[in-house]
Amino acid sequence: MSPKFVDIHSHVNFSAFDEDRDEVITRSQDSGVWMINVGTQRDTSQSAVELSEKHSGVFATVGLHPIHTDKSFHDKKELGGHGEEFTARGEIFDFDYYETLAEKKSVVAIGECGLDYYRLGEDSKKKQKETFEKQITLANEVNKPLMLHIRPAIRSLGAGGNAYSDAYEIVKSTAKVGGNVHFFAGTWEEAKLFLDIGFTLSFTGVITFAETYNETIMNAPLDMIMSETDAPYVAPVPYRGKRNEPRYVTEVVKKISDIRGEEYEHVREQLVQNTKHMFAF
Ligand SMILES: [Zn+2]
Repeated sequence: MSPKFVDIHSHVNFSAFDEDRDEVITRSQDSGVWMINVGTQRDTSQSAVELSEKHSGVFATVGLHPIHTDKSFHDKKELGGHGEEFTARGEIFDFDYYETLAEKKSVVAIGECGLDYYRLGEDSKKKQKETFEKQITLANEVNKPLMLHIRPAIRSLGAGGNAYSDAYEIVKSTAKVGGNVHFFAGTWEEAKLFLDIGFTLSFTGVITFAETYNETIMNAPLDMIMSETDAPYVAPVPYRGKRNEPRYVTEVVKKISDIRGEEYEHVREQLVQNTKHMFAF
């Protein structure tokens, strides 16, 4: 069986879905939408794997998000409102723990991993880089692609260097596997760096209400683009302000076809092909 759409980056494993997780997955399956639930630290990686083993058309990634290498981070939608004192820990990447998960059949990528310069200082950057490199080593070892999270610094503050070019240098010199840059939020120049080394780009519902990425969406080859929701965050028009969920990925695919001026069915079909090719399912 083949899906009609794939949400290649969602977090139905997060606590935002504790009340109705199975219903969300069923609604998605009923709409022909397959999903990849993305791990961000130990617990969410484990729960992504559990979901992928329980449901058809549901896959997982395992990894440590750069923001979770920092002690001060806590997101209620991700980890729940309780026990902040336990979850707001700077996690050290445990290679053996993630390796055991990574070898499972329904795990299709390593990550989300990468660099997040949005609100971090120099010390955190070093920790992020080391953690990122360990996950590339793991991806090389299990021969699975990378799910990259790269978030630039707030440009007006101008501090901290360029997360895209720093991540590109690391990937280019160490990765023996391919991968995807999730929630691409860079310039067309930055996009080209990754496209040139065979990395795909994925876009969220943000493209339904902001034109910032139209240049990249228009210029990138159609076989190098994928669709995602990043649920529970950034719901597309007409669901803005609500909790996002994987079946809304249809709005992202529609918008990609609009922006490119290409026939919807053709774009939909090609995006599914791209996904199957990258994640081998
Ligand atoms: Zn994510």
